[in-house]
Amino acid sequence: MPLGDSTRAVHAGLPPLTPGQPFLPGPVFAAPFVLDPVTGGEGIDWYGRPHNASRRHLEAAIGELEGGQCLTFATGMAAVGATLLSLLHPGDTVIVPADGYFTTRAFARAELATRGVTVLTAPTAGPYPSFQGVRLVLVETPANPGLDVCDLAELAAAAHAAGALLAVDNTTATPLGQRPLELGADLVVASGTKALTGHSDLLLGYLATRDEELLARLRSWRDSTGGAPAAFDSWLAHRSLATLDLRLGRQTANAAAVAEALATHPAVAWVRWPGRPADPSYAVAARQMARIPGVVTFELAGEAAVGRFLSAARLVIPATSFGGLHTTADRRAQWGDDAPPGLVRLSCGVEDTADLVADINQALDAV
Ligand SMILES: *Cc1c(COP(=O)(O)O)cnc(C)c1O
Repeated sequence: MPLGDSTRAVHAGLPPLTPGQPFLPGPVFAAPFVLDPVTGGEGIDWYGRPHNASRRHLEAAIGELEGGQCLTFATGMAAVGATLLSLLHPGDTVIVPADGYFTTRAFARAELATRGVTVLTAPTAGPYPSFQGVRLVLVETPANPGLDVCDLAELAAAAHAAGALLAVDNTTATPLGQRPLELGADLVVASGTKALTGHSDLLLGYLATRDEELLARLRSWRDSTGGAPAAFDSWLAHRSLATLDLRLGRQTANAAAVAEALATHPAVAWVRWPGRPADPSYAVAARQMARIPGVVTFELAGEAAVGRFLSAARLVIPATSFGGLHTTADRRAQWGDDAPPGLVRLSCGVEDTADLVADINQALDAV
């Protein structure tokens, strides 16, 4: 019988149990390591940029959950940047999400066009342009902040038929929500800053793949540009991973209840949560995802209405980012994102469902 999600999360990446040692060894703080006086650094850890045991344990853990081999980065954007800059060359064409994480699109436009790469955008829910002549298709599902979901198996087949690679930003779903490599994607690229580690206290990025050649290319890029995470953050991320199933379970339950409350409140223009049967992405999400994340997006009348909502709420912390233990809300338009001024991305934490729904209802009444 395959192991359940919580069992896998608790044991992911732990080194062999050793009497007298901790379950998860503490962070290995080292820039250089001691060399062998005769053979030098051959076959051992010799320098912290390419080698660190805390990072390797974390990579083993995330790799187990994604079903591939993992490379970690200091931030999600370091992983996105490594993918786009190392795999694309002058004359190549890339497709990035028109409605996904804003910084990825801005980075592609600013840094790739000047390097002779053609950047096309496509909305997550489609329609997608032809993949003929395209080198890399990057999708994000569910897309942040609009929460549209796309069919990964279908896109992987279309990309491969055209000779293109499919990369999937799995940040919002996490590997317990969906496993893009199993659905045919060549590469997972994600931020571990959000729900994966879930305590709003560290930055992390990662890539995962089953393709040895791709892995070698990306590893060489990371180890020479130096974007790896530090030992303490790697250890802290690994420690947090053990509770991933528990955290997601409560976040999803909270999001289901909050989405219903939002859908029935007159101050709310519309609400998106792919777990609601009325949601446009419900059918594809139900097919593809093992669970729906705790992020809900909705629209109030405008900037002032969002200000009244956030001032009245006692359990909703105004903050960007998402996926943490604490419920947070972010008015995306303040960051230059091309979202409507009243759009709120609400990230449900692990508070008691009844408390959260009561607080959000009273804050909406104050709008
Ligand atoms: C946050 C985020 C990123 C970037 O991750 P950082 O860790 O903040 O650099 C990339 N993609 C998505 C979907 C994100 O939400």
